[in-house]
Amino acid sequence: MNVTLNNGIEMPALGFGVFQTPPEQTVASVVEALKVGYRLIDTAASYLNEREVGEGIRVSGVDRSEVFVETKLWISDYGYDEALHAFDKSAGKLGVEQIDLLLLHQPLTSDFEKTVGAYKALEKLLADGKVRAIGVSNFMPHVLANLLERTDVVPAVNQVEGHPYFSQRDVQAADDAHGILTQAWSPMGGITSYRGDSGRSTFNDPVIGDIALAHGKTPAQVMLRWHLQEGRSAIPKSVKPERIAANFDVFDFDLSAEELAQINALDTGVRSGPDPDAITLESFHRDIPEA
Ligand code: NDP
Repeated sequence: MNVTLNNGIEMPALGFGVFQTPPEQTVASVVEALKVGYRLIDTAASYLNEREVGEGIRVSGVDRSEVFVETKLWISDYGYDEALHAFDKSAGKLGVEQIDLLLLHQPLTSDFEKTVGAYKALEKLLADGKVRAIGVSNFMPHVLANLLERTDVVPAVNQVEGHPYFSQRDVQAADDAHGILTQAWSPMGGITSYRGDSGRSTFNDPVIGDIALAHGKTPAQVMLRWHLQEGRSAIPKSVKPERIAANFDVFDFDLSAEELAQINALDTGVRSGPDPDAITLESFHRDIPEA
């Protein structure tokens, strides 16, 4: 199932994430994902596994032209010249000439000039054909509005925290108003389990569990199906082959309008990830190595 981005580029709606996948497990995970049908891989400079993502694609036997490669520039590389160089670092590690979708990983609201500079670098990379589409991540509507005022190319994608306990439909509405596709990170609410601080995990939610039972599916599959039917892209992560396969097996059932509403009603309005406005270079600086 493909979606057409606002610049006409086609992207698979369901992709494969590799945040927290250790480099030594990344090649095998990507190979497994491509084997069972994923054609979109989402990584980031700050995940420190771009090299292994590239290797996984190469050894998979799937042609590079069939794989949609998405990565993100980290805030430590913001500013115009820095971001242009950050593209070289990411493309070099991935071993690709062209990146399909390049995002700014976070807004740096404490230094928005640098954020705008980095986005203008993405616009330049797009104009030069180095990337096929550009976008943002963790941009809340007020920050997105500031970016749109200062730049020319409307982002194709806004990747934000999105799962039944924090569905951010207000963010999706703001994205929709500009023709921006919302892509859910932690789409199954992984962050509600591995952070372990909410006391509730989406995987054990009784409402989702009942819906899963009714369809002969797992809670993970129900959550991924929910995103797709609600018009979002989703990028589930796993390092376990059986889960990698199961998380892609979501195209043989439909949730009813009532079931979608039941899942939407689980929203707590409370994020599990960091507040995007609180990300600063002081607290989140990371050196991104050269290619
Ligand atoms: P997910 O919702 O994808 O959940 C992943 C977690 O759930 C892992 O702990 C995984 O463990 C486990 N899991 C996977 N499949 C199943 C299953 N079928 N049943 C039970 N447990 C399962 O959350 P993530 O936070 O990993 O997000 C996914 C992707 O989103 C990331 O890989 C990354 O690409 C992106 N992301 C982007 C962020 C951003 O700021 N832009 C922030 C966070 C994530 P195991 O691997 O052991 O199966």
